[in-house]
Amino acid sequence: METDGFTGSLIEVIPEGIIAVDAAGRIIGCNAKAMRLLSLSKDPTGSAISALENAALQRFLGDARNGEMREFDVGGKSVSVTYRDLIQGDLRFGAVLLMSLVGERSHAERVRTEFTANVSHELKTPLTSISGYAEMISMGMAQGDDIKRFANKIETEAKRMLTLISDIIRLSQLDEMAEARLSFEVIDFYPIVSDIVELMQPIAQKRGLSIQLSGGSMQVKGDKAMLTELATNLIDNAVRYNRDNGLITVRVADQCFSVRDTGIGISKSDSIHVFERFYRADKSRSKATGGTGLGLAIVKHTCEQLGAVVSLDSREGIGTEITVRFPKV
Ligand code: ATP
Ligand code: MG
Repeated sequence: METDGFTGSLIEVIPEGIIAVDAAGRIIGCNAKAMRLLSLSKDPTGSAISALENAALQRFLGDARNGEMREFDVGGKSVSVTYRDLIQGDLRFGAVLLMSLVGERSHAERVRTEFTANVSHELKTPLTSISGYAEMISMGMAQGDDIKRFANKIETEAKRMLTLISDIIRLSQLDEMAEARLSFEVIDFYPIVSDIVELMQPIAQKRGLSIQLSGGSMQVKGDKAMLTELATNLIDNAVRYNRDNGLITVRVADQCFSVRDTGIGISKSDSIHVFERFYRADKSRSKATGGTGLGLAIVKHTCEQLGAVVSLDSREGIGTEITVRFPKV
């Protein structure tokens, strides 16, 4: 049974997010708050609850008991969901999910704890190999060419750590930069992008990649360093995760900046995580090319500061397009 007008209005006035399902698991009502909390673009009423795309939520629904509450990460925000059976007499005729945003503070604390654990892990890996190679050299276990090879590895890993540390510092600065907005100015984004494209040409050409730039002057509100970093990260990924002799199409027009590549693509399950700190879809490839998994997290943060919206469209084996839509100035 679909909700009638009265029930529909009723669930809209409830301050929590609410989704009601019938005994067969079909959604019979969903209020706007629930759609916002779950980042749903259209009303899911009428479809099966199992069609909601959140793996953790689905696992919860699989074994939830009446009254049970759990927290989920939905697009970077922490949402608490309580499950309740709807029972009349002996009959279970459906269930409701009640949702609310977890207090900002505890969410921030959870993010910080995860972040510290990740940082320690990420720093430990290169340090372990640096000390391993250094030990072999100092113990005289490396001879001739090996010494050069090991020193090379030490250098590469040390550079990786340096990049990682500067990215981490950058991210924490962005976290604290809420007031930076005050110093934003109106800037033409096109010349910034065109400079980066020029800078990246030699690296791209080495792999037979061509970068095409289209569009023209586009005014956005921001800070030059932030905008440069945003564009560099996206173009760098398009080069790094492309196939040899591939194409990169960069466009600056209609308040949008988009970077499209013909690379390995990102699977649907990875695409919801790539903007998280330290997440790497293709670990071996990203590691081999020195990736730390922070580039897109920086992009996401930067967009939040700029009031821009970033979206991803990707097909495995075909390519990826990332678009940043800037607010009108
Ligand atoms: P870095 O911090 O140096 O940018 P990274 O490139 O590994 O390291 P991100 O830029 O955050 O980190 O990207 C996260 C992951 O998303 C990458 O490791 C890669 O697996 C995937 N990815 C990002 N951009 C693309 C792309 N254009 N095509 C395919 N996969 C991509
Ligand atoms: Mg990157």
